[in-house]
Amino acid sequence: MNELKRLTEQMTDSYDIAIIGGGPAGSVAGVFLARADFDVLIFDHGRSALRKCAFLENYLGFPAGISPTAFRDLLYEHTESVGCDRLETTVEQISERVDSGGFRVHSRSESGDKTHDVRYILATSWAETEYLSPLGVDTVPEEHPGDVEVVSTNDDGQTNVDGVYAAGRITETYHQAIVNAGDGARVARSIVERERPNFYNDWVVPTGYYDRYGRAVPEGVEEISHEERRDRERRAARKMVEFLVASQSRSECSSSRSL
Ligand SMILES: Cc1cc2nc3c(=O)[nH]c(=O)nc-3n(C[C@H](O)[C@H](O)[C@H](O)COP(=O)(O)OP(=O)(O)OC[C@H]3O[C@@H](n4cnc5c(N)ncnc54)[C@H](O)[C@@H]3O)c2cc1C
Repeated sequence: MNELKRLTEQMTDSYDIAIIGGGPAGSVAGVFLARADFDVLIFDHGRSALRKCAFLENYLGFPAGISPTAFRDLLYEHTESVGCDRLETTVEQISERVDSGGFRVHSRSESGDKTHDVRYILATSWAETEYLSPLGVDTVPEEHPGDVEVVSTNDDGQTNVDGVYAAGRITETYHQAIVNAGDGARVARSIVERERPNFYNDWVVPTGYYDRYGRAVPEGVEEISHEERRDRERRAARKMVEFLVASQSRSECSSSRSL
């Protein structure tokens, strides 16, 4: 191994999966994968389609709607809470690691160039696909409205290159945040299924639930007591109230600055 290659290897962090894009599709995929113990690195350069939306009113769970900025911050907070790492950089290129398998992700930001080695790639990077070209990933012009390339996948979100998946708006699908998030969850589940076939449910259930059916608690299921459940409910309510109050005050500050 030459000196340059050796130094690059030393400076390259490794993850199980790189998710390119931290919008609804990439973020939910990060949550599902991290909860199944994948080391997840999310790359996001911050130009989500959501930023162009004035107010999000058709995402289930927000009956009065939610500001796209608050929604994005919630996604970030959720991925962070389950242990995903996030880099605010642009993925420029992905190459195959011929010697050891997997992929090397090359990204660029104001603080410099970085490389990361991963076993899987999940592209959720609307509307960029060029960085996948060196891998030979198939793209097609989207049918509607038809002016950009989308990534071709099978029903599991797998592209024509083994280990490279795609989900969300970057594939041929409808253009709504919740549709794209659902797609990210579905593709993440298929990657989990491939690596950990017994990790079937990502559920939290009351203590004794499986006992009643004479079954052992399956992998991927957490049983919690009544007290723990009440604690979690209280923590969750407090967190949401604090979050929404802080988000509203940030939004009012930025509106008054822009007057
Ligand atoms: C004007 C407008 C209004 C809309 N209004 C609504 C609405 O009211 N309701 C609704 O449900 N949907 C709405 N949408 C659609 C919605 O925003 C998208 O369907 C949704 O955001 C797609 O989610 P995604 O995760 O697939 O992609 P995105 O949200 O676009 O996320 C992709 C992410 O990838 C990152 N990225 C891309 N390339 C790279 C790269 N090379 N390196 C690193 N990061 C990269 C970007 O930073 C981005 O955050 C609207 C869209 C637009 C344009």
